[in-house]
Amino acid sequence: MTVMTEFQRKITELLPQISLRLDEPLCKHTSFRIGGAAEVMAFPSNREELGLLLKTSKLLDCKPIILGAGTNVLAPDEGVSGLVICLKDCMDGMERLDDTTIRVMAGVTMTRAAVFAAGLGLSGLEFAHGIPGTVGGGIYMNAGAYGGEICQVCVEVEVMDFQGNTRVYSNEEMGFSYRHSILEESPGIVIRGDFRLVSKPEAEIRERMKELMSKRSSSQPLDKPSAGSAFKRPVGGYAAALIDKAGLKGFQIGGAAVSEKHAGFVVNLGGATAADVRQLLSQVSDRVFADTGIRLEPEVRIW
Ligand SMILES: Cc1cc2nc3c(=O)[nH]c(=O)nc-3n(C[C@H](O)[C@H](O)[C@H](O)COP(=O)(O)OP(=O)(O)OC[C@H]3O[C@@H](n4cnc5c(N)ncnc54)[C@H](O)[C@@H]3O)c2cc1C
Repeated sequence: MTVMTEFQRKITELLPQISLRLDEPLCKHTSFRIGGAAEVMAFPSNREELGLLLKTSKLLDCKPIILGAGTNVLAPDEGVSGLVICLKDCMDGMERLDDTTIRVMAGVTMTRAAVFAAGLGLSGLEFAHGIPGTVGGGIYMNAGAYGGEICQVCVEVEVMDFQGNTRVYSNEEMGFSYRHSILEESPGIVIRGDFRLVSKPEAEIRERMKELMSKRSSSQPLDKPSAGSAFKRPVGGYAAALIDKAGLKGFQIGGAAVSEKHAGFVVNLGGATAADVRQLLSQVSDRVFADTGIRLEPEVRIW
């Protein structure tokens, strides 16, 4: 019989109405398929439950970790103590606010949001079709692809702070820059985003999404677990091109390898650990630096 930790006992007593899993393997919730157990993982089903979780965490003196779809996260092999709040299945829903603006809840996937916009004949989210994360994670990361970026279309974001209070941030207040938002420095949880788009014939939007999806599947190792681009794009170049030039395609440590198909991706070939990935990222970065003087920084969020 497993013995509950003090934290597990207290939180399960205080929150009997919320879906909680104890010692939940993070590898089941990350696209890398890597990560030890979360002491407690919570699956709130709406914002009220999320607020309650945050207040209870504060009471228990625990700062929770937020997880969306887990597609840009490297979770540690030893797991995490305390609370992980998974928002993937929380806060669902999309609506049209006016002719060109839509509101999307944080748990909706980027792909669903793009398809919804296309169905309304609204263009601007085509780039998001195929990015596997949630809108909450996408806003936090200022996700982007093929010339599009969340910050180009997101007009406001509702954010809940860790005390459970909500506030609306304008685009400017979100402090967006390349794969960054203010939420990295001033932590909060994205509840929803409003996106201003432009009218366009639906067929043209769908054609563009199809084109981008086919670019993705022909260039990216979508058949293997990964977290997308492992490194941020350096100034004046592309990480993948620099890694390829350094002869590192296929370079492997343990179960983690630089993808043969796309040098910007680190893939889990089976049984990779977070330690393998961290070592690989560090060695790739050092080798590229030695070659070119350019220091690659990880894009994946290393917990
Ligand atoms: C095959 C593949 C292709 C990819 N292609 C792209 C691409 O083209 N462009 C791109 O930008 N990214 C890409 N990614 C990376 C990833 O999908 C994006 O960064 C995505 O936006 C992350 O969303 P998520 O819900 O998975 O966030 P997670 O990975 O769960 O979390 C990422 C970070 O966001 C935080 N977070 C998550 N949800 C919230 C929330 N509601 N409020 C506050 N913080 C939150 C987490 O704490 C964490 O720090 C790719 C990944 C894969 C596996």
